[in-house]
Amino acid sequence: MRTPTICFLRQNNTIFLRIFMVLFLSGITANINLGSNLPSTATSATDLDVQSWLNSLSLDGHFSFHDLHRVSKDFGNQHQSVPSAILQPKSVSDIAATLKHVFQMGPSSKLKVAARGHGHSLRGQSHAPGGVVVDMKSLQGPEMRIHIGKVPYVDVSGGELWINILHESLKYGLAPKSWTDYLHLTVGGTLSNAGISGQAFRHGPQISNVHQLEIVTGKGDVVTCSEKQNADLFHAVLGGLGQFGIITRARIALEPAPKMVKWIRALYSDFSIFTKDQELLVSAEKTFDYIEGFVIINRTGLLNNWRSSFNPQDPLQASQFRSDGRTLFCLELTKNFNPDETNTVNQEVKSLLSRLSYIPSTLFMSEVPYLEFLDRVHVSEMKLRSKGLWEVPHPWLNLLIPRTGIHDFAKEVFGNILTDSSNGPILIYPLNKSKWDNRTSVVTPGEDVFYLVAFLSSALPSSSRPDSLEHLLDQNKRILDFCTTAGIGMKQYLPHYTTQEEWRAHFGPQWEAFAQRKSMYDPFAILAPGQRIFQREYPYAMLT
Ligand code: FAD
Repeated sequence: MRTPTICFLRQNNTIFLRIFMVLFLSGITANINLGSNLPSTATSATDLDVQSWLNSLSLDGHFSFHDLHRVSKDFGNQHQSVPSAILQPKSVSDIAATLKHVFQMGPSSKLKVAARGHGHSLRGQSHAPGGVVVDMKSLQGPEMRIHIGKVPYVDVSGGELWINILHESLKYGLAPKSWTDYLHLTVGGTLSNAGISGQAFRHGPQISNVHQLEIVTGKGDVVTCSEKQNADLFHAVLGGLGQFGIITRARIALEPAPKMVKWIRALYSDFSIFTKDQELLVSAEKTFDYIEGFVIINRTGLLNNWRSSFNPQDPLQASQFRSDGRTLFCLELTKNFNPDETNTVNQEVKSLLSRLSYIPSTLFMSEVPYLEFLDRVHVSEMKLRSKGLWEVPHPWLNLLIPRTGIHDFAKEVFGNILTDSSNGPILIYPLNKSKWDNRTSVVTPGEDVFYLVAFLSSALPSSSRPDSLEHLLDQNKRILDFCTTAGIGMKQYLPHYTTQEEWRAHFGPQWEAFAQRKSMYDPFAILAPGQRIFQREYPYAMLT
């Protein structure tokens, strides 16, 4: 592994000695807490050396050294980190050439590279302090290819947004099977995590619906992989938190798309009955197409949160229902249909609902086009943006809770730690472990059924205490502490840790395999430094 680097160095001794120094210095991290002054944008001598080195690469696209603050924040909006350069790739070989050169700098260089999808991560995961951020959106565009056949699929760039895939595939009457609630996320970004929404109980997460990937590894190699070809890299990258390679292309499974959905909500005041019904639905053969739920704590005005888009035709009785201070649990369901199937689908829905025990007067029903349903969060985004409430700090916490712990968890968290849910939605819905492939890198609890519980809070900087970032972070800490002391067996989704000990605990028995894969595909720990799993040190494997 070290031989090529040494040979390369012998040939280019003087230049590389200088570059080593430059890159070593440039690797000093530039993490800045919000609220502190931004670093100066003046270009230092070190920056200029990095610039001239990067500019010496022959690319289809280009490096940008200005406007670096454009990629210095993410959706979480709690940290800033400025890179030395942004790569705007126009081809896969641009990414490969960059990574190959950084790799050939050898172990003493500190230069890091992070792919940035849409920057919707929460804690700086797409940052590369002092390094190179690869703007994956530059790769999106005309290359999307739909294959219509017995097993339809679409080939897309890793920087493609899911909303664009939906628009394009709908032209052929097709759509991906598994989604996230919000579609303005990139393929590479969600496949690096898992990609979960209300369809996952049936189809598995998005990482269970990929046929093939093209990856640029941390050594700059371009590798096509699938279940049958380079299978270890394929599984490593899925849920791999960007640690093993940059996803430049993905082949995503498609299915016939319905034209419409019946969109249903109903309320429960008893958590046990709510979860019993959710579990009944996710285990049934004939069931709904999408199953989620959310928690409403101490609210009297009902269902007016950012995900609600029900229209005034909802039953009057339901819209007048009041919580009277009770904690309520809202079941959210959809059933897909085409207009010529209306009667049949109405019967099916009626029959399925008859098996459930929600509060009868709270049944909300609506019919909307499939596209409108899938892109529902974007409507809320537009509203929040218009009020300046989108770019606030988002101290989100996403947890996977094993079924056996969900009641203790709910009792303490919804009954004690949280006093209000007005800071943002709290999602809760069960997932079937059998739909997750345990060869991938993602970590889930070890039970057949586990719940996604997502606290999607927004902090208002100038607000009083319950909405403040400090208060919300403290609340998250209390939830995490409770999980530890009560032995809930929780795993974080979109995980965030700051020490390798915590990462080891997160991966548990999977840590050795994860670290082994790192030493295979990114031995100098160049990739996705913002996840803070591996230090850019060599041989990092000695740390494991
Ligand atoms: P980024 O945030 O830019 O990147 C995320 C990580 O992946 C970084 O480490 C980055 O380096 C790496 N990465 C990015 N692109 C690539 C690539 N091509 N190859 C390799 N690594 C790469 N998630 C769900 O599962 N379900 C949901 O319903 C859901 N809803 C959301 C709603 C909103 C409003 C937001 C903001 C996020 C939501 N997410 C959801 C979380 C989302 O999956 C993550 O934010 C994820 O990081 C995707 O965002 P991104 O494409 O902007 O990637």
